[in-house]
Amino acid sequence: MAKKQFKTESKRLLDLMINSIYTNREIFLRELISNASDALDKRHYLSITDDAHRINKEELKIELTIDKENRRLILTDTGIGMTQDELEHNLGTIAHSGSLEFKKKLEEAKEVDIIGQFGVGFYSAFMVAKMITVNSKSVHETQAYRWESTGEDGYTISLSDKFTTGTEIILTLKDNTDTENYDEYLETYTLKQLIKKYSDYVRYPIGMMVETSHKKEDSDEYETVVEHQIVNSMIPLWKRNKKDVTEEEYKDFYRNKFFSFDEPAKTIHYSLEGNVSYNALLYVPSKAPYNFYSSEYEPGLQLYCKGVFIMDKAKDLLPNYFRFVKGLIDSNDLNLNISREILQQDRQMKTMAKSIEKKIKGALEDLLKNDREKYEEFYKSFGLQLKYGVYEDFGAHKETLQNLILFKSTFEDKYVTLHEYVERMKEGQDLIYYACGQSIEQINLLPQMERLKDKGYEVLYFTDEVDEFATFSLQEFEGKKFKSIAQGDLNLDSEEEKQEMEKKKEENKDLLSSMKDALSGAVADVRISSRLKTHPVCLVSDEGISLEMEKVLAQNPESSGIKASRILEINPNHPIFATLQNLKDNESTLNLYTNILYNQALLIEGLSIDNPVEYANQICDLMSKMN
Ligand code: ADP
Repeated sequence: MAKKQFKTESKRLLDLMINSIYTNREIFLRELISNASDALDKRHYLSITDDAHRINKEELKIELTIDKENRRLILTDTGIGMTQDELEHNLGTIAHSGSLEFKKKLEEAKEVDIIGQFGVGFYSAFMVAKMITVNSKSVHETQAYRWESTGEDGYTISLSDKFTTGTEIILTLKDNTDTENYDEYLETYTLKQLIKKYSDYVRYPIGMMVETSHKKEDSDEYETVVEHQIVNSMIPLWKRNKKDVTEEEYKDFYRNKFFSFDEPAKTIHYSLEGNVSYNALLYVPSKAPYNFYSSEYEPGLQLYCKGVFIMDKAKDLLPNYFRFVKGLIDSNDLNLNISREILQQDRQMKTMAKSIEKKIKGALEDLLKNDREKYEEFYKSFGLQLKYGVYEDFGAHKETLQNLILFKSTFEDKYVTLHEYVERMKEGQDLIYYACGQSIEQINLLPQMERLKDKGYEVLYFTDEVDEFATFSLQEFEGKKFKSIAQGDLNLDSEEEKQEMEKKKEENKDLLSSMKDALSGAVADVRISSRLKTHPVCLVSDEGISLEMEKVLAQNPESSGIKASRILEINPNHPIFATLQNLKDNESTLNLYTNILYNQALLIEGLSIDNPVEYANQICDLMSKMN
């Protein structure tokens, strides 16, 4: 029989398991039982939806057998089973999300300690077994197959004489050494404890032969009887009373069931009776999975119907902006016989989705209010998703999300909600100011920031591309309009100052118009600025598309060409302004100065200049004239 080699990506995980000195190796049993339970779920679903495969619910079970003599532990399930191909594919590779994420973490952290936090799956059995034999018969085949491996040197696949549908996993335990003892996994008592600890809620009976002592009839003596027992309570966690479930149980469930390695930021457990009745157990993660912001990430909730597993990632139960939520729904009302495709359009599904959305929103608001620190940790990972949510679908969900978004601001190095911002607005301030840029440091250097800081007005830092688009959807919050510090009229001046500006504008009309001509169409206007303090110029845009939005849109070939209407503003209180005034009759120098100032303004804004060589030459010209 030819030996086949494990796929290279599996090798490392496998080596780690074989050589593991991990103290929590007992989790192998949880992993195997969880696989068996999944296989039973699949068979159960098939049985309900396909008459040809109908079986009695009682036949769906897991059995654990101890073979002390040969130091073997045998786990059997009557689940869906595996074909030859499936044995090859499923047990020869790690292709599933949990282990891949685990592997990635492992590379980052190089810590063995994270094993316990993951569903590392089938391979974890190599922590206790020196050889694993899997006999499996798929529900779709008449022939059974055997997969066998000692881990190190690949695996073999051959025919098996197993005659019932399902899977049998035989672990031949490792030999004891001076420091490591594996005998405990041959003890009924230990195994029973482990099942209780990790797999109590599995919804199929886990049976084993258990020794119990009975009092003899008509005597005070005890005798030991070996009898078959169902070890687990079979009540799924989500069906249990909330107050009877411990924090630890919720966390364990989260990690094992949903391949998560973080702590949930919030656990949402409820049951709803009404138009549709269902139980829900949802988790808001605190950290984003590594692939969350890629198309690889598959959102969705597990869907059960009257305790029967229906599908793994029911997408329609979660709105896109809450796609980070993990969990499951167990409905009492869905029609089991309808296909998975039709299910998506089901009216009851829609009703459930609506109430799920409400619950998640409420839970997040609650977290924000009562555990700010945890919320902010969550927000660091998922804030971007929420902000996209405000923008997507033309702002249709802004009401739902506007109270959940946070920004950093000039006030403190802390997040602020929009409500908090409005609450602490200065007397006389009636706009919500924000500034866009690559980073907080860069924004702080913007010439326009000075006057706002002088005024004592708080400015929100917009450092994500989506930020300004999100406020574009919002338009206003609690009656206050959003205002970019680089756009339109900032409304910072007193009446007196305004009049003064008007006067200056009038007096310098000709100068401004000559400067505009000098830029030959590059800007829509040249204006006297009321937003500058010590800097000579800045580039702003009129209401509408901003310069930041222009930058973002330029990345998309479809929408490139959409430009902000640019306005060059000059500080009338800067000495350079007097210089410009004196150049009224010297067209060529005014032309040169205007172009230099414009290019400076572009650079400060983080925009590129059309002709850098020309700009450099102009500066050099000036420098040589100084002599
Ligand atoms: P995971 O369960 O995380 O997908 P595992 O490595 O534990 O990863 O298992 C890999 C795959 O092997 C499973 O996804 C499943 O398809 C198959 N498998 C494992 N155990 C069984 C079983 N007892 N019955 C049927 N299929 C199984």
